[in-house]
Amino acid sequence: MKKREINSVRTPVYRDAGFELPTAGATSDAFFAETAHEREPDLYIYSRYRNPTVVAAEEAVMAVEGSQWALLVQSGMAAIDIALSIFQEAGSRSNWLFFSEIYGGTLSYINSILISRRGQGVSFFSPTGNDYDYEMLERILAETKPDIVYFETISNPLLIVADGSRIISIAKKQGARVIVDNTFATPLLWKPLDDGADMVIHSATKYLSGHGNLTAGVICGNDSNLLHSAVEYRKFIGHMLSPDDAYRLQTQLASLDLRFMQQCGNARAVAELLSSSGRVGTVLYPGLGTHPTHTVCREITGGKGYGAMVTFDMAGESPEEKRDSRDRFIAAVYPDIRLIPTLGDSHTILMPVEAVWGSKYPEPGMIRMSVGFESREVIRQVIERGLRS
Ligand code: PLP
Repeated sequence: MKKREINSVRTPVYRDAGFELPTAGATSDAFFAETAHEREPDLYIYSRYRNPTVVAAEEAVMAVEGSQWALLVQSGMAAIDIALSIFQEAGSRSNWLFFSEIYGGTLSYINSILISRRGQGVSFFSPTGNDYDYEMLERILAETKPDIVYFETISNPLLIVADGSRIISIAKKQGARVIVDNTFATPLLWKPLDDGADMVIHSATKYLSGHGNLTAGVICGNDSNLLHSAVEYRKFIGHMLSPDDAYRLQTQLASLDLRFMQQCGNARAVAELLSSSGRVGTVLYPGLGTHPTHTVCREITGGKGYGAMVTFDMAGESPEEKRDSRDRFIAAVYPDIRLIPTLGDSHTILMPVEAVWGSKYPEPGMIRMSVGFESREVIRQVIERGLRS
């Protein structure tokens, strides 16, 4: 078999499961020294351990996140699994504090895996109204001294923006490790590691890849001990990202700034348009002065943007009227805006909140919209059509 060496600009998709090793000595070094590749960066053994296409994509993520290391995995959930599991110790009854306003899949993981299967001690911190009470958080942390504090920068679907740098500083004072799910903000709006977080995770399925065409997750950090634990866990549990998805992620990451800033601008225009309509009750968008965490968002992002998600509530006299109004809006914006259960896609998509969260958020007319990077004028026309329905 002839191997062709071609001078391509991007690292190609290396689909090989195993890589040729030069000598028996190099083989044993590669297998038994976990960090052998740190001495010899071109040492590849087996794609579940390390793959050149994945490493190239990780370097691209590190450049965007400004982190010392990044590890790519098959999904955001796999990233969460690694970031938390590396802190678990057999028989330990430690207490971890999670913000309650986090992705539903993460809450299910906490309940079914961490608590039910592994006996992890867990407590939750809930917002007061649509904001966090930081003095209350300070008191809880001082009393319970959790080992880990875990939160999302922008919550889903109420878009509560956390004062991340304040949370990190409160948590660090009590000796806790801090993990931030920064999926909704992206590193363009805030870089938690710069404010002292221990690890940042993203569902790269969302904005980092940005086209709704792959599932991936990433964990970023600066501490080399955490890196070694995370590399070992990824290898043994088999969470490694596929080279095909890594290649697409790397290519699409190059346009993150263009895409996401356009999405943030579009989202603001959508929020303003919805706010001006009598068909709509409350509009939740951190870029609007009416949002309870507008100021926090402006401070942590330096006013660069307010995210690309908009949640709003169709007006009505009764729950039935609100549901009817919601359904008419959803039907009228179709097929330009479709009901798709993800976010951060290239196109504007939506989800009815009640169908996903049940009675957790008791507004039956509520819709969560992930605004895409289409032309602003096109989105405006489609939403106006929805509001006329
Ligand atoms: N974190 C957040 C904030 C999410 O919204 C999601 C998924 O929607 C995840 C994590 C999980 O990511 P994935 O679906 O890529 O596993």
